[in-house]
Order: sequence, then C-alpha cells, then structure tokens
Amino acid sequence: LASNEWKKEPTKVSVKDVEIGGEKIVVAAGPCAVESEEQVETVAKAVRRAGASLLRGGAFKPRTSPYSFQGLGEGGLKILRKVSDEVGLPIVTEIMDARDLPLFKQYDIDMLQIGARNAQNFTLLKEVGKFGKPVLLKRGMANTVEEWLQSAEYLLSEGNGNVVLCERGIRTFEKATRFTLDIGGMVAAKMMTHLPMCADPSHPAGKRELVHSLALASVAAGADMLIIEVHPNPEKALSDSEQQLTPESFEVLMNRIKALANAL
Ligand code: PEP
Ligand code: MN
Repeated sequence: LASNEWKKEPTKVSVKDVEIGGEKIVVAAGPCAVESEEQVETVAKAVRRAGASLLRGGAFKPRTSPYSFQGLGEGGLKILRKVSDEVGLPIVTEIMDARDLPLFKQYDIDMLQIGARNAQNFTLLKEVGKFGKPVLLKRGMANTVEEWLQSAEYLLSEGNGNVVLCERGIRTFEKATRFTLDIGGMVAAKMMTHLPMCADPSHPAGKRELVHSLALASVAAGADMLIIEVHPNPEKALSDSEQQLTPESFEVLMNRIKALANAL
C-alpha cells in the first residue's frame, strides 16, 4: 500500500490546515522536550513568526538512560494543546505506548510521531494505524529503507493513509556526527513510495553547528517537510541540549530554506 506501483499520485497529508507533500516545504519546529508552559509558549511564538507551520515537542521521551529526564507525560500534552490553541500551530508529538492513546485523544493531538526506537514496534504501529490521526513515522536507526517502508505498511494496512516518512539518521561507524543522515536512502525511499518525506536534521547532527547544512541538503534532495529542534535557551535544555537551535538561528535557517526552495 505504501508503494507507488500501487498508488501513482503522490499522497498529501493534511494536519488541520497544513498540507504536507504539496508545493510548500512544511517546517515543524519546537523543543526536543516540553519542559514548561513558558518554554513552549516562547518557542512556539518565535517559530511561528519565523515561518514554521507545526509545533513539535516531546511529552513522552525515549531516553537511553532511565535516570534522564523522561518528559512531563500527560502534563506535557496539556501544555502542547494549550499553547497550540493560543498560537495557532498544530502539534506533532511522540507516542511511545499504545496505552497512552486515550490521552492523545483527550488532548486532541494533531499528528502522532513514532520515534526511531519504536519504528518496528509492530503492536504500537497497528494501534496507531487504527487511531486515525496523521502519523510522522521516523526511520529506525538500524532499519533499511525496505524495513522502514514495511513499518509504514503496518499503519496503512490498518486503514490510516495519512503517513509522512521521516529520515532521522542511521547508525554507522562514523562518529563525527551523532547519526549519519542518509540522504541517499531518503531519495531512494521517495522513489519507491507515494508518501511524503520529512527530514530531521537535528538528531543526526547532534551539534547545532551542523543543523543548517543538513536541513538545506535535505531540502535540496527533495524533502517535503523538516522537523527541527528549537529551544529558547538550548544550553539549559533538559534533553538534546547540544543540537537545539536558538530561535534567532532558526529564523536565519528559515530564510535560507525559503531562498533555496525558490531556487529549486
Ligand atoms: C525526537 O524527535 O524527539 C526523537 C526522540 O527523535 P528520534 O526518535 O528520531 O530519536
Ligand atoms: Mn531530541
């Protein structure tokens, strides 16, 4: 169902009034993790002003260590809903456990993210497929393009066609970056499917100095959407502090993205 042999026309995914897979490059931006209402509000207003059309932020965080900040959980969803309504940007946020679906319904979360670590959690994929809201499906850090598309198949076969794929870097021997953004794999996947393609330049970069270049490379390679981490005070962030952009740097990046998109 994900194959473009089965469906020839490109799929457009609508998240409220935001269309992904159309002419315009859609940018989702916001903090790695929801930390407080003030933090999300500050960043949401800044990224909206700079031209983002979706608000990102994790309430349930898949941290490597159980002793690291795990996210605010339900409190985080509540903050996202409130700020989203206030600022007018639909939300994309990660779901880690199907048992939380009632909360995602209660707070009317606009787009559900399946993170890299759950990209092959098939029971979660099936339940999220049944849920019906648009999905941002990250590529697992050790998944081939074929495996990634099979994960999308789990969502589509449950009747949810509103799926956006997201390349976020894979594990390789290279340590100069946190993950290796697989631009070639992203382009190859795009040639095999009708689903829109997102790129996450933040997680493969691992360092904010690299984020602009990876974002621009993704746009040049045909990404329909970008998801970028922005924090009002990255140094103080409770997660992924090294890679989050300041609002000022994000604004500069948005202008560079617009200029590049116009030139393509
Ligand atoms: C995230 O987007 O916050 C995240 C945890 O991403 P990934 O699943 O790609 O590591
Ligand atoms: Mn993060």
